[in-house]
Amino acid sequence: MYAIKLELKLNNCEQTLMARHSGYARFCYNYALNLYKNAMDIKIGSSKKVAAIERVFTNHVKKLPEYQWTNTLSSRVYKMTFRHFQEALSRYFKGLGKFPTFKRKKDGDSFTVDAADWNHSILLEPSKRIKVPTLGTFRLKEAIPFKCMAQTFTISRSANKWYISFAIKAEKVPPLLHSIAEPVGIDLGVSTFATLSDGTVYSYPKPLKKAKTKLSKLQWKNRKKQLGNRRLGIKASKNAQKYYRSLAKNYAKVANQRRDFLQKTTTEISKKYAHIRIEDLNVSGMLANHKLAASISDCGFYEFRRQLEYKSFMHGTKVEVVDRWYPSSKTCHQCGNIQPLPLKERVFNCQCCELLINRDLNAAINLSQAPFEKLRLVRPEVTSVE
Ligand SMILES: [Zn+2]
Repeated sequence: MYAIKLELKLNNCEQTLMARHSGYARFCYNYALNLYKNAMDIKIGSSKKVAAIERVFTNHVKKLPEYQWTNTLSSRVYKMTFRHFQEALSRYFKGLGKFPTFKRKKDGDSFTVDAADWNHSILLEPSKRIKVPTLGTFRLKEAIPFKCMAQTFTISRSANKWYISFAIKAEKVPPLLHSIAEPVGIDLGVSTFATLSDGTVYSYPKPLKKAKTKLSKLQWKNRKKQLGNRRLGIKASKNAQKYYRSLAKNYAKVANQRRDFLQKTTTEISKKYAHIRIEDLNVSGMLANHKLAASISDCGFYEFRRQLEYKSFMHGTKVEVVDRWYPSSKTCHQCGNIQPLPLKERVFNCQCCELLINRDLNAAINLSQAPFEKLRLVRPEVTSVE
């Protein structure tokens, strides 16, 4: 089972509907947390307490005239919200998370609805329309990749775009024919995003680079703006508000462009090559290096690999990870000589057989030829649905 996230194409009316449901989810969560906090000293188990709070909400609160608006919205939203609250509490009691905090509007919009049980799961057809339990049918920007079943749907907003994600039960994914069967190695880099062992190169599109520069300029110019402080009673200035709004928009723009690029690239690779070999990135280790950190964290290496992994299900590709210590960039792919290679050196010049080759291409070829004992087959991350 794994999750798919797709962008929704909503009209104004539908956007309002989603925003209202997000507000409803926030309201229920905060309501539950507030009552829970007030009932701290009552000595009953936390799940029983949450169940009691939910009963109060269903039988009392929803009937009050000032809360009539809750009855115009999907009841699955509050059911799921109470369940989320319960999950947050049990994570806390297991020492896996912090105690739940109140949700604020600025934390973003999201809510979850589900079909009452697996027997009522929604059958999703490969089309650009999606049926969401209790909410209706909505249009999608990108089509559902194949026929599947889903029970739980989460709708969320990032800047002004709305997304839907759902875990699917996929036993069998339609097989696809790949034009290339031999293993292909992929080297990821800061200067060239991905270099493939057959010489194909993927670079970040220019608009993305431009948007990133614009963003950092914007941040530098406005580095002294203050968005107020409620505790100190300082109000945010009109200009600061304007700036933060545009900043959020710009962030979303960069994030969207990166996402589009990664989606397109990983789909293309997964469709073309049947067998992919990729470096096992020590992402946390690389992030500890401050100079590399900034460029790597927004390069999307991690996301790239994650997408290749989950698309391996969709496209029937085999994705293998090559051991982190395998010297893919320091080895000559022709004669096997290993020699040191500083990071700034863009060309690999073998001192043994005098091979002269692009550094990334050499590394990619080495990855494609990696010995069996250095390989590990990866499985897409499994999202379990309780
Ligand atoms: Zn050589």
